[in-house]
Amino acid sequence: MPQKHNTMPEIFDNVSLKKYNTFGVEATARWYTEINSEDDLKDLFANEAWRKAERLVLGGGSNLLLTKDFDGLVIRMNIKGISSKVNGEQVIVEAGAGEVWHNLVMYCVDNGFAGMENLSLIPGSVGASPIQNIGAYGVELKDVFESCRVFFIETGEIREFKKEECRFGYRESIFKNDLKGEVIITNVVFRLSTKPALNISYGAIGEELQKRHIANPGIKDVSDVVSHIRVSKLPDPSTIGNSGSFFKNPIISETEFKKIQSIFPDTVHFCLPNSTVKLAAGWLIEQCGWKGKKIGETGTWKNQALVLVNYGNATGSEVYDLSSRIIEDVKTKFGVSLEREVNVI
Ligand SMILES: Cc1cc2nc3c(=O)[nH]c(=O)nc-3n(C[C@H](O)[C@H](O)[C@H](O)COP(=O)(O)OP(=O)(O)OC[C@H]3O[C@@H](n4cnc5c(N)ncnc54)[C@H](O)[C@@H]3O)c2cc1C
Repeated sequence: MPQKHNTMPEIFDNVSLKKYNTFGVEATARWYTEINSEDDLKDLFANEAWRKAERLVLGGGSNLLLTKDFDGLVIRMNIKGISSKVNGEQVIVEAGAGEVWHNLVMYCVDNGFAGMENLSLIPGSVGASPIQNIGAYGVELKDVFESCRVFFIETGEIREFKKEECRFGYRESIFKNDLKGEVIITNVVFRLSTKPALNISYGAIGEELQKRHIANPGIKDVSDVVSHIRVSKLPDPSTIGNSGSFFKNPIISETEFKKIQSIFPDTVHFCLPNSTVKLAAGWLIEQCGWKGKKIGETGTWKNQALVLVNYGNATGSEVYDLSSRIIEDVKTKFGVSLEREVNVI
């Protein structure tokens, strides 16, 4: 084991990660530590052995699949704190990487800060939100993102990244690509507004507001409705292990789409700019007969085939194998390659 440093955060040996991943699969971390400040990170990585060690940064563990024990250092982000500054209609909100995402959304909703309400109830931490540019119900993180503070593991440098530098895309950012494994996000700054510009056109939001006879919704109404729809559609990880959408919705060219549509006229799709088309991965999987199927302790969710679940004692590699079978079937039937959204470790 690398030598300890006096002011270093405490390092624990052989820690079970079962309660730290929403799939609820068993895996052991060779070493485990929790980070409560940027100084903790500086102290930890002042030690060359830890800089060189295999590492896994962990937030809420809601977007990863552990397929085996982790023979390295797991770094759980626990930097807390939420603050805000209102300037006219503009609001700047800052939050530590270790804050729970939904708590931040609730802080904003309760204070009348608009912009995040459609992102209610997404599991996980604030620090992970830029990693895959989280999104739901027609809103993405990038729509409210101002900047984030980023710690460079090798040099100990801390830099601010503005939105343009983060190269946000659909479930993508620079942190998942060029900077993967090299940096740790310590806090995130958001730009919100006291004047709501509600986005209620997506999914069943409008319908649910109507059902509730809400003609002039506020941000709290939208947040409540989004939370309600999510709870009714997605399995709760505290009872059935899962990581939300397991695959990304594939984006293909219009030409490829036309070929698929000529054979499957009902193909669920959304036209995007640049002659591309986004397909609904859940629909493709369902057409291959996978919806609600159970194999041993794993399977796909009965209401949404895009969500792979752990019914109790599945191992990460069983879930992974299931995902490979699904990828193969979708490729054979539609010629489309599904890409995993979940980070496989
Ligand atoms: C029921 C359910 C529903 C979901 N719905 C959605 C949805 O609607 N939209 C959506 O976009 N996602 C959704 N997700 C996925 C997940 O909630 C998000 O991806 C979330 O941002 C993951 O946060 P986390 O803290 O749990 O990240 P983790 O799973 O802990 O980590 C994810 C990745 O980010 C890295 N990472 C984490 N924190 C940091 C940090 N501070 N610095 C650097 N790297 C870091 C990790 O190393 C890992 O590679 C859902 C998941 C579940 C279980």
